[in-house]
Amino acid sequence: MTNIGEKVVCLVAYHIFFMLFVWSYWKTIFTLPMNPSKEFHLSYSDKESLEREPRGESQQEVLRRAAKDLPIYTRTMSGAIRYCDRCQLVKPDRCHHCSVCDKCILKMDHHCPWVNNCVGFSNYKFFLLFLAYSLLYCIFIAATDLQYFIKFWTNGLPDTQAKFHIMFLFFAAAMFSVSLSSLFGYHCWLVSKNKSTLEVFRAPIFRHRTDKNGFSLGFSKNLRQVFGDEKKYWLLPVFSSLGDGCSFPTCLVNQDPEQASTPGGLNSTSKNENHLFPAKPLRDSQSHLLTDTQSWSEISAKPEKGKVGMSNPALTMENET
Ligand SMILES: [Zn+2]
Ligand SMILES: [Zn+2]
Repeated sequence: MTNIGEKVVCLVAYHIFFMLFVWSYWKTIFTLPMNPSKEFHLSYSDKESLEREPRGESQQEVLRRAAKDLPIYTRTMSGAIRYCDRCQLVKPDRCHHCSVCDKCILKMDHHCPWVNNCVGFSNYKFFLLFLAYSLLYCIFIAATDLQYFIKFWTNGLPDTQAKFHIMFLFFAAAMFSVSLSSLFGYHCWLVSKNKSTLEVFRAPIFRHRTDKNGFSLGFSKNLRQVFGDEKKYWLLPVFSSLGDGCSFPTCLVNQDPEQASTPGGLNSTSKNENHLFPAKPLRDSQSHLLTDTQSWSEISAKPEKGKVGMSNPALTMENET
């Protein structure tokens, strides 16, 4: 490069991409995964009665009692309350036990060996930005190196050791760009659908049915759940996700007949399913996520005894990784 202006632009751009890449990578690695709050842990007496109860049905009864006031909608495949016997807690929706961390992780996406950390509610935004900035960084390097790479093959470079660095640098940057772009594209799709990697492999099971899009609220709201309401924080690796990680609004929460307006981005199929959900307290985090669609509310119907959810009383422990 001979032009001084070109040099300055390249150096500034390089350091911006590099800084954002390192910052988001650092945050993804060192942000501790969030675990379920105290209220999801069984009380001492519940733990005792769970150990005492010999049968699955009685154990389920203990768990149903413990989960009575918790904002949970998802169940195991057999319709039982999701319970982690290692952490001894009722699993919040979208929470899974990581066998590597040996803990229950809120909104667990996957355990990532590249960052040696669980990717979940606390660092999912950082992980996305890490993918985005590492991709930009690699594309920038490949693009600025391209002209010298071409010169390498046309013998236009001085005959020194450095010319091999140019070739290897281009190959490394181009290869990482290809793999990162597919991973980043995949996670963009997940965000737009409000799914986690685990939920793609096993769709969340709600009280009466499985719904792979059960947590999707429409593109804009799905995006805001991860990146937050304030656009100025979207591109920075600072925590701005909405909610508390323990409870999530779902499109399957029924519509309040008192309200006339229909919220956008919600499944029309979710209407007429009022009977499916028991009364559960709507948390502040959920209320916040639904503030601009006041037409959603919880129902007061009690779960009917003897229906699905009780039909298979076995206490199901999920084997999740
Ligand atoms: Zn656990
Ligand atoms: Zn983990």
